[in-house]
Amino acid sequence: MKREKSEALFEKAKKYFPGGVNSPVRAFRSVGGTPLFIQKGKGSHIWDADGNEFIDFCGSWGPLILGHANDKVIHAIKTTVENGSSFGAPTALENDLAELILSNNKFIEKIRFVSSGTEAVMSAIRLARGFTKRNKILKFEGCYHGHLDALLVKAGSGLVTFGNTSSAGIPESFVNETIVVSLNNEAAVKQAFTEFKDQIACVIIEPIPANNGLLLQRKEYLQFLREICSENKTLLIFDEVINGFRIGFEGAAGYYNIQPDIITYGKIIGGGLPVGMYGASAEIMSHISPEGNVYQAGTLSGNPVAMAAGIAQLTECLKPDFYQDLERKTQFLIDSIFKSLTSPITNFKIYSVGSIFWIAFTDKEVVRTAEEIDADSMKHFKILHKELLERGIYLGPSGYEVGFVCEAHSEEDLIKTAKAFAEALEIAMK
Ligand SMILES: *Cc1c(COP(=O)(O)O)cnc(C)c1O
Repeated sequence: MKREKSEALFEKAKKYFPGGVNSPVRAFRSVGGTPLFIQKGKGSHIWDADGNEFIDFCGSWGPLILGHANDKVIHAIKTTVENGSSFGAPTALENDLAELILSNNKFIEKIRFVSSGTEAVMSAIRLARGFTKRNKILKFEGCYHGHLDALLVKAGSGLVTFGNTSSAGIPESFVNETIVVSLNNEAAVKQAFTEFKDQIACVIIEPIPANNGLLLQRKEYLQFLREICSENKTLLIFDEVINGFRIGFEGAAGYYNIQPDIITYGKIIGGGLPVGMYGASAEIMSHISPEGNVYQAGTLSGNPVAMAAGIAQLTECLKPDFYQDLERKTQFLIDSIFKSLTSPITNFKIYSVGSIFWIAFTDKEVVRTAEEIDADSMKHFKILHKELLERGIYLGPSGYEVGFVCEAHSEEDLIKTAKAFAEALEIAMK
Protein backbone atom coordinates (compact mmCIF):
# COMPACT_ATOMS: atom_id res chain seq x y z
CA MET A 1 0.00 0.00 0.00
CA LYS A 2 1.40 3.37 -1.01
CA ARG A 3 1.54 5.95 1.76
CA GLU A 4 3.92 8.61 0.43
CA LYS A 5 1.33 11.37 0.06
CA SER A 6 -0.28 10.76 3.45
CA GLU A 7 3.17 10.69 5.02
CA ALA A 8 4.14 14.01 3.41
CA LEU A 9 0.85 15.60 4.44
CA PHE A 10 1.32 14.35 7.99
CA GLU A 11 4.85 15.80 8.17
CA LYS A 12 3.42 19.15 7.13
CA ALA A 13 0.45 18.87 9.51
CA LYS A 14 2.80 18.28 12.43
CA LYS A 15 4.17 21.79 11.89
CA TYR A 16 0.71 23.27 12.28
CA PHE A 17 -1.15 21.11 14.78
CA PRO A 18 -0.13 19.36 18.00
CA GLY A 19 0.54 15.77 16.97
CA GLY A 20 -0.41 16.75 13.42
CA VAL A 21 -4.15 16.48 14.05
CA ASN A 22 -7.21 18.42 15.14
CA SER A 23 -8.60 15.62 17.30
CA PRO A 24 -6.30 13.17 19.11
CA VAL A 25 -7.69 9.78 18.08
CA ARG A 26 -7.03 10.60 14.43
CA ALA A 27 -3.30 10.44 15.09
CA PHE A 28 -3.04 6.61 14.88
CA ARG A 29 -1.06 6.65 18.13
CA SER A 30 -2.69 3.49 19.44
CA VAL A 31 -2.30 1.47 16.23
CA GLY A 32 1.00 2.93 15.04
CA GLY A 33 1.90 4.25 11.61
CA THR A 34 0.84 7.37 9.78
CA PRO A 35 -2.78 8.52 9.71
CA LEU A 36 -4.27 8.32 6.25
CA PHE A 37 -5.28 11.67 4.81
CA ILE A 38 -8.66 11.17 3.24
CA GLN A 39 -9.38 12.82 -0.06
CA LYS A 40 -12.93 11.79 -0.74
CA GLY A 41 -15.75 9.49 0.19
CA LYS A 42 -18.77 8.14 -1.63
CA GLY A 43 -21.28 5.74 -0.12
CA SER A 44 -19.45 3.14 1.97
CA HIS A 45 -16.06 3.84 0.41
CA ILE A 46 -13.28 6.35 1.07
CA TRP A 47 -10.11 7.16 -0.86
CA ASP A 48 -6.90 8.48 0.66
CA ALA A 49 -4.40 10.96 -0.78
CA ASP A 50 -2.38 8.12 -2.34
CA GLY A 51 -5.45 6.82 -4.15
CA ASN A 52 -5.96 3.77 -1.89
CA GLU A 53 -9.62 2.75 -1.61
CA PHE A 54 -11.22 1.47 1.59
CA ILE A 55 -14.57 0.18 2.76
CA ASP A 56 -15.20 2.50 5.70
CA PHE A 57 -16.61 1.42 9.07
CA CYS A 58 -15.63 4.60 10.94
CA GLY A 59 -18.23 6.82 9.27
CA SER A 60 -16.61 9.96 10.68
CA TRP A 61 -16.99 8.28 14.12
CA GLY A 62 -20.73 7.80 13.76
CA PRO A 63 -22.46 10.71 12.03
CA LEU A 64 -22.61 9.20 8.53
CA ILE A 65 -25.42 6.68 8.90
CA LEU A 66 -26.25 6.99 5.19
CA GLY A 67 -22.60 6.78 4.10
CA HIS A 68 -20.40 9.43 2.53
CA ALA A 69 -21.63 12.20 0.23
CA ASN A 70 -25.20 10.93 0.19
CA ASP A 71 -26.94 12.48 -2.82
CA LYS A 72 -29.92 13.80 -0.84
CA VAL A 73 -27.76 15.32 1.89
CA ILE A 74 -25.41 16.94 -0.64
CA HIS A 75 -28.36 18.34 -2.58
CA ALA A 76 -29.85 19.86 0.59
CA ILE A 77 -26.51 21.43 1.55
CA LYS A 78 -25.94 22.90 -1.91
CA THR A 79 -29.37 24.39 -2.39
CA THR A 80 -29.38 25.86 1.12
CA VAL A 81 -25.91 27.41 1.08
CA GLU A 82 -26.68 29.23 -2.16
CA ASN A 83 -28.98 31.44 -0.13
CA GLY A 84 -26.38 32.25 2.49
CA SER A 85 -24.62 30.23 5.15
CA SER A 86 -25.55 31.97 8.42
CA PHE A 87 -27.61 34.92 9.57
CA GLY A 88 -27.53 35.02 13.34
CA ALA A 89 -31.31 35.32 13.10
CA PRO A 90 -33.95 32.57 13.16
CA THR A 91 -34.66 30.55 10.01
CA ALA A 92 -37.56 28.24 9.13
CA LEU A 93 -35.12 25.32 8.79
CA GLU A 94 -34.62 25.25 12.57
CA ASN A 95 -38.37 24.76 13.00
CA ASP A 96 -38.37 22.07 10.33
CA LEU A 97 -35.62 19.97 11.92
CA ALA A 98 -37.12 20.45 15.39
CA GLU A 99 -40.56 19.36 14.14
CA LEU A 100 -39.10 16.33 12.40
CA ILE A 101 -37.38 15.27 15.62
CA LEU A 102 -40.09 16.12 18.13
CA SER A 103 -42.97 14.60 16.19
CA ASN A 104 -41.07 11.31 16.18
CA ASN A 105 -39.71 11.31 19.72
CA LYS A 106 -41.98 10.90 22.73
CA PHE A 107 -39.22 11.53 25.30
CA ILE A 108 -38.67 15.27 24.80
CA GLU A 109 -40.90 18.30 24.27
CA LYS A 110 -38.54 21.21 23.67
CA ILE A 111 -35.03 21.44 22.40
CA ARG A 112 -32.10 23.75 21.79
CA PHE A 113 -29.65 23.30 18.91
CA VAL A 114 -25.91 23.77 19.49
CA SER A 115 -22.89 22.95 17.34
CA SER A 116 -21.28 19.85 18.87
CA GLY A 117 -21.87 16.97 21.23
CA THR A 118 -19.56 18.51 23.81
CA GLU A 119 -21.56 21.69 23.75
CA ALA A 120 -24.81 19.77 24.12
CA VAL A 121 -23.53 17.95 27.20
CA MET A 122 -22.02 21.09 28.73
CA SER A 123 -25.37 22.87 28.34
CA ALA A 124 -27.35 19.92 29.68
CA ILE A 125 -25.19 19.81 32.82
CA ARG A 126 -25.63 23.55 33.37
CA LEU A 127 -29.38 23.15 32.90
CA ALA A 128 -29.49 20.30 35.42
CA ARG A 129 -27.55 22.37 37.95
CA GLY A 130 -29.67 25.44 37.34
CA PHE A 131 -32.88 23.46 37.59
CA THR A 132 -32.01 21.55 40.77
CA LYS A 133 -29.87 24.29 42.38
CA ARG A 134 -27.32 21.59 43.22
CA ASN A 135 -23.67 21.33 42.19
CA LYS A 136 -22.55 17.73 42.13
CA ILE A 137 -22.83 15.47 39.12
CA LEU A 138 -22.40 11.72 38.90
CA LYS A 139 -20.80 10.00 35.93
CA PHE A 140 -19.58 6.51 35.13
CA GLU A 141 -16.10 5.21 34.45
CA GLY A 142 -15.95 4.25 30.78
CA CYS A 143 -18.51 6.78 29.53
CA TYR A 144 -17.30 9.63 27.34
CA HIS A 145 -19.26 12.86 27.25
CA GLY A 146 -17.05 15.17 25.22
CA HIS A 147 -14.16 17.26 26.46
CA LEU A 148 -15.78 19.57 29.00
CA ASP A 149 -13.74 20.04 32.17
CA ALA A 150 -16.20 18.56 34.63
CA LEU A 151 -16.44 15.30 32.70
CA LEU A 152 -12.84 14.68 31.72
CA VAL A 153 -12.38 12.65 34.83
CA LYS A 154 -11.82 9.03 35.62
CA ALA A 155 -12.45 7.05 38.74
CA GLY A 156 -9.89 6.80 41.46
CA SER A 157 -9.83 3.68 43.62
CA GLY A 158 -12.78 2.84 45.82
CA LEU A 159 -16.47 2.30 45.25
CA VAL A 160 -17.40 5.96 45.06
CA THR A 161 -14.69 8.47 44.24
CA PHE A 162 -14.21 11.99 43.18
CA GLY A 163 -12.70 11.91 39.78
CA ASN A 164 -9.05 12.30 39.04
CA THR A 165 -8.72 14.62 36.09
CA SER A 166 -7.80 12.78 32.92
CA SER A 167 -6.40 15.97 31.42
CA ALA A 168 -3.99 18.65 32.58
CA GLY A 169 -5.50 22.11 32.81
CA ILE A 170 -8.54 21.15 34.87
CA PRO A 171 -8.58 22.60 38.39
CA GLU A 172 -9.08 20.06 41.14
CA SER A 173 -11.93 22.16 42.49
CA PHE A 174 -13.92 21.52 39.29
CA VAL A 175 -13.39 17.81 39.49
CA ASN A 176 -14.44 17.81 43.13
CA GLU A 177 -17.98 18.35 41.95
CA THR A 178 -17.86 15.20 39.83
CA ILE A 179 -18.51 11.82 41.42
CA VAL A 180 -17.34 8.82 39.41
CA VAL A 181 -18.60 5.25 39.85
CA SER A 182 -18.25 2.00 37.89
CA LEU A 183 -20.92 0.97 35.44
CA ASN A 184 -23.24 -1.92 36.31
CA ASN A 185 -22.93 -1.42 40.07
CA GLU A 186 -26.11 -0.54 41.97
CA ALA A 187 -24.36 -0.47 45.35
CA ALA A 188 -21.90 2.22 44.25
CA VAL A 189 -24.69 4.48 43.02
CA LYS A 190 -26.69 3.95 46.22
CA GLN A 191 -23.65 4.79 48.32
CA ALA A 192 -23.06 7.98 46.34
CA PHE A 193 -26.65 9.08 46.91
CA THR A 194 -26.32 8.39 50.64
CA GLU A 195 -22.97 10.14 50.96
CA PHE A 196 -24.05 13.17 48.96
CA LYS A 197 -27.70 13.37 49.93
CA ASP A 198 -29.56 16.27 48.24
CA GLN A 199 -26.37 17.41 46.52
CA ILE A 200 -26.44 15.54 43.21
CA ALA A 201 -27.88 17.62 40.38
CA CYS A 202 -27.74 14.91 37.76
CA VAL A 203 -26.60 11.44 36.83
CA ILE A 204 -25.22 11.36 33.30
CA ILE A 205 -24.76 8.14 31.36
CA GLU A 206 -24.34 6.92 27.81
CA PRO A 207 -27.28 4.50 28.00
CA ILE A 208 -25.46 2.33 25.47
CA PRO A 209 -21.84 3.17 26.32
CA ALA A 210 -19.99 3.08 23.00
CA ASN A 211 -16.89 5.23 23.44
CA ASN A 212 -14.77 2.83 25.46
CA GLY A 213 -15.67 -0.44 23.90
CA LEU A 214 -19.35 -1.31 23.68
CA LEU A 215 -20.40 -1.80 27.29
CA LEU A 216 -24.00 -2.95 27.02
CA GLN A 217 -25.86 -2.34 30.28
CA ARG A 218 -28.72 -4.36 31.72
CA LYS A 219 -32.11 -2.74 31.21
CA GLU A 220 -32.82 -3.24 34.94
CA TYR A 221 -29.72 -1.24 35.75
CA LEU A 222 -30.87 1.72 33.64
CA GLN A 223 -34.31 1.37 35.22
CA PHE A 224 -32.66 1.43 38.64
CA LEU A 225 -30.89 4.69 37.73
CA ARG A 226 -34.23 6.15 36.63
CA GLU A 227 -35.80 5.24 39.97
CA ILE A 228 -33.01 6.38 42.25
CA CYS A 229 -32.84 9.70 40.40
CA SER A 230 -36.58 10.24 40.78
CA GLU A 231 -36.46 9.38 44.49
CA ASN A 232 -33.69 11.93 45.04
CA LYS A 233 -35.02 14.68 42.76
CA THR A 234 -31.88 14.28 40.68
CA LEU A 235 -32.13 14.64 36.91
CA LEU A 236 -31.20 11.66 34.74
CA ILE A 237 -29.33 12.70 31.59
CA PHE A 238 -29.03 10.26 28.73
CA ASP A 239 -26.06 11.34 26.66
CA GLU A 240 -27.19 10.00 23.32
CA VAL A 241 -24.67 11.80 21.16
CA ILE A 242 -23.58 8.44 19.76
CA ASN A 243 -26.76 6.38 20.41
CA GLY A 244 -29.28 8.93 19.14
CA PHE A 245 -30.78 8.17 15.70
CA ARG A 246 -28.40 5.16 15.59
CA ILE A 247 -30.25 2.63 17.76
CA GLY A 248 -33.56 3.56 16.17
CA PHE A 249 -34.92 7.07 15.70
CA GLU A 250 -35.61 7.47 19.41
CA GLY A 251 -32.15 6.25 20.32
CA ALA A 252 -31.50 4.36 23.53
CA ALA A 253 -34.44 5.95 25.39
CA GLY A 254 -36.72 4.34 22.81
CA TYR A 255 -34.73 1.10 22.72
CA TYR A 256 -35.09 0.58 26.48
CA ASN A 257 -38.29 2.59 26.82
CA ILE A 258 -36.92 4.61 29.72
CA GLN A 259 -37.78 8.28 30.18
CA PRO A 260 -34.72 10.37 31.02
CA ASP A 261 -35.05 14.00 32.15
CA ILE A 262 -32.65 15.50 29.62
CA ILE A 263 -31.30 13.95 26.41
CA THR A 264 -28.30 15.12 24.39
CA TYR A 265 -27.78 14.38 20.71
CA GLY A 266 -25.02 15.06 18.20
CA LYS A 267 -23.25 13.15 15.44
CA ILE A 268 -26.04 11.78 13.15
CA ILE A 269 -28.33 14.75 13.80
CA GLY A 270 -26.26 17.05 11.55
CA GLY A 271 -25.95 14.82 8.49
CA GLY A 272 -22.15 15.21 8.67
CA LEU A 273 -22.15 18.91 9.56
CA PRO A 274 -21.57 20.20 13.11
CA VAL A 275 -24.84 20.02 15.07
CA GLY A 276 -25.61 19.08 18.64
CA MET A 277 -28.84 19.32 20.57
CA TYR A 278 -30.27 18.93 24.03
CA GLY A 279 -33.89 18.45 24.89
CA ALA A 280 -36.20 17.83 27.83
CA SER A 281 -39.75 18.47 28.98
CA ALA A 282 -41.12 21.95 28.24
CA GLU A 283 -40.95 22.64 31.97
CA ILE A 284 -37.26 21.81 32.34
CA MET A 285 -36.38 23.61 29.10
CA SER A 286 -38.20 26.74 30.31
CA HIS A 287 -35.19 27.31 32.58
CA ILE A 288 -33.03 28.10 29.53
CA SER A 289 -32.42 31.73 28.58
CA PRO A 290 -34.20 33.86 27.38
CA GLU A 291 -37.18 32.14 29.04
CA GLY A 292 -35.26 31.19 32.17
CA ASN A 293 -32.06 32.08 33.96
CA VAL A 294 -29.70 29.36 32.68
CA TYR A 295 -27.61 31.09 30.05
CA GLN A 296 -26.66 29.27 26.86
CA ALA A 297 -26.02 30.75 23.41
CA GLY A 298 -24.23 30.15 20.09
CA THR A 299 -23.25 32.32 17.11
CA LEU A 300 -23.71 29.47 14.64
CA SER A 301 -26.37 27.48 16.56
CA GLY A 302 -29.16 26.24 14.31
CA ASN A 303 -27.00 26.99 11.29
CA PRO A 304 -29.25 26.71 8.22
CA VAL A 305 -26.86 24.62 6.12
CA ALA A 306 -26.34 22.17 8.97
CA MET A 307 -30.11 22.08 9.65
CA ALA A 308 -30.75 21.23 5.99
CA ALA A 309 -28.20 18.42 6.09
CA GLY A 310 -29.79 17.08 9.27
CA ILE A 311 -33.29 17.20 7.80
CA ALA A 312 -32.16 15.34 4.69
CA GLN A 313 -30.41 12.63 6.69
CA LEU A 314 -33.09 12.14 9.36
CA THR A 315 -35.81 11.99 6.71
CA GLU A 316 -34.07 8.91 5.32
CA CYS A 317 -33.78 7.39 8.79
CA LEU A 318 -37.55 7.63 9.20
CA LYS A 319 -38.26 5.44 6.17
CA PRO A 320 -39.86 2.08 6.99
CA ASP A 321 -37.42 -0.71 7.93
CA PHE A 322 -34.42 1.64 7.86
CA TYR A 323 -33.11 0.49 11.24
CA GLN A 324 -34.10 -3.15 10.77
CA ASP A 325 -32.11 -3.22 7.53
CA LEU A 326 -29.06 -1.75 9.22
CA GLU A 327 -29.26 -4.29 12.01
CA ARG A 328 -29.71 -7.15 9.54
CA LYS A 329 -26.62 -6.01 7.64
CA THR A 330 -24.62 -5.79 10.84
CA GLN A 331 -25.64 -9.31 11.84
CA PHE A 332 -24.79 -10.52 8.35
CA LEU A 333 -21.33 -8.98 8.63
CA ILE A 334 -20.67 -10.52 12.04
CA ASP A 335 -21.98 -13.95 11.00
CA SER A 336 -19.91 -13.79 7.83
CA ILE A 337 -16.75 -12.96 9.76
CA PHE A 338 -17.19 -15.94 12.07
CA LYS A 339 -18.08 -18.22 9.16
CA SER A 340 -14.95 -17.14 7.30
CA LEU A 341 -12.61 -18.19 10.10
CA THR A 342 -10.76 -21.38 9.22
CA SER A 343 -10.56 -22.32 12.89
CA PRO A 344 -12.44 -20.88 15.88
CA ILE A 345 -10.69 -18.23 17.99
CA THR A 346 -11.81 -18.42 21.61
CA ASN A 347 -10.65 -14.98 22.71
CA PHE A 348 -12.14 -13.04 19.82
CA LYS A 349 -15.60 -11.50 20.14
CA ILE A 350 -17.75 -9.04 18.25
CA TYR A 351 -20.36 -7.38 20.44
CA SER A 352 -23.10 -5.46 18.70
CA VAL A 353 -26.36 -3.61 19.05
CA GLY A 354 -28.24 -2.23 16.05
CA SER A 355 -25.57 -1.08 13.61
CA ILE A 356 -22.84 -0.56 16.21
CA PHE A 357 -20.22 -3.27 16.61
CA TRP A 358 -17.13 -3.66 18.76
CA ILE A 359 -14.25 -6.03 18.20
CA ALA A 360 -12.74 -7.33 21.41
CA PHE A 361 -10.04 -9.83 22.15
CA THR A 362 -11.47 -11.47 25.22
CA ASP A 363 -13.12 -14.73 26.19
CA LYS A 364 -15.85 -12.98 28.21
CA GLU A 365 -19.40 -13.48 26.98
CA VAL A 366 -20.38 -9.99 28.16
CA VAL A 367 -18.32 -6.94 29.07
CA ARG A 368 -20.23 -4.31 31.02
CA THR A 369 -17.54 -2.21 32.70
CA ALA A 370 -14.44 -0.35 31.57
CA GLU A 371 -12.39 -2.22 34.18
CA GLU A 372 -13.06 -5.54 32.43
CA ILE A 373 -11.25 -4.45 29.26
CA ASP A 374 -7.75 -5.87 29.18
CA ALA A 375 -5.35 -3.20 27.89
CA ASP A 376 -2.91 -5.90 26.85
CA SER A 377 -5.46 -7.32 24.37
CA MET A 378 -5.05 -4.16 22.30
CA LYS A 379 -1.84 -5.62 20.85
CA HIS A 380 -4.05 -7.91 18.74
CA PHE A 381 -6.18 -5.00 17.57
CA LYS A 382 -3.11 -3.11 16.47
CA ILE A 383 -2.11 -5.90 14.09
CA LEU A 384 -5.70 -6.48 12.98
CA HIS A 385 -6.09 -2.80 12.14
CA LYS A 386 -2.93 -2.72 10.04
CA GLU A 387 -3.75 -5.95 8.19
CA LEU A 388 -7.29 -4.75 7.47
CA LEU A 389 -5.98 -1.48 6.04
CA GLU A 390 -3.72 -3.49 3.74
CA ARG A 391 -6.84 -5.33 2.58
CA GLY A 392 -8.88 -2.20 1.95
CA ILE A 393 -10.91 -2.11 5.17
CA TYR A 394 -10.90 1.06 7.32
CA LEU A 395 -11.73 0.87 11.03
CA GLY A 396 -11.30 3.72 13.51
CA PRO A 397 -7.67 3.57 14.70
CA SER A 398 -8.26 2.33 18.27
CA GLY A 399 -9.40 -0.94 19.78
CA TYR A 400 -11.51 0.99 22.27
CA GLU A 401 -13.63 2.46 19.49
CA VAL A 402 -16.70 0.88 17.94
CA GLY A 403 -17.44 0.44 14.23
CA PHE A 404 -20.58 1.45 12.38
CA VAL A 405 -22.49 -0.15 9.53
CA CYS A 406 -24.21 2.40 7.29
CA GLU A 407 -27.03 2.29 4.77
CA ALA A 408 -24.55 2.40 1.89
CA HIS A 409 -22.71 -0.82 2.82
CA SER A 410 -23.55 -3.41 0.18
CA GLU A 411 -23.63 -7.17 0.59
CA GLU A 412 -20.51 -7.26 -1.56
CA ASP A 413 -18.76 -4.84 0.83
CA LEU A 414 -19.67 -7.00 3.80
CA ILE A 415 -18.55 -10.27 2.18
CA LYS A 416 -15.26 -8.68 1.19
CA THR A 417 -14.86 -7.36 4.72
CA ALA A 418 -15.51 -10.78 6.26
CA LYS A 419 -12.88 -12.40 4.04
CA ALA A 420 -10.35 -9.69 4.92
CA PHE A 421 -11.11 -10.18 8.62
CA ALA A 422 -10.47 -13.92 8.44
CA GLU A 423 -7.03 -13.34 6.88
CA ALA A 424 -6.14 -10.45 9.16
CA LEU A 425 -7.23 -12.29 12.31
CA GLU A 426 -5.06 -15.25 11.50
CA ILE A 427 -2.07 -12.90 11.48
CA ALA A 428 -3.22 -10.92 14.54
CA MET A 429 -3.58 -14.06 16.69
CA LYS A 430 -0.20 -15.57 15.82
C1 LIG B 1 -18.93 12.03 20.46
C2 LIG B 1 -19.54 12.15 21.78
C3 LIG B 1 -19.55 13.35 22.51
C4 LIG B 1 -18.81 14.59 22.03
O1 LIG B 1 -19.32 15.07 20.84
P1 LIG B 1 -18.41 16.07 19.97
O2 LIG B 1 -19.30 16.44 18.82
O3 LIG B 1 -17.20 15.29 19.58
O4 LIG B 1 -18.08 17.23 20.83
C5 LIG B 1 -20.23 13.40 23.71
N1 LIG B 1 -20.88 12.32 24.17
C6 LIG B 1 -20.90 11.15 23.51
C7 LIG B 1 -21.68 10.01 24.07
C8 LIG B 1 -20.23 11.03 22.29
O5 LIG B 1 -20.25 9.85 21.66
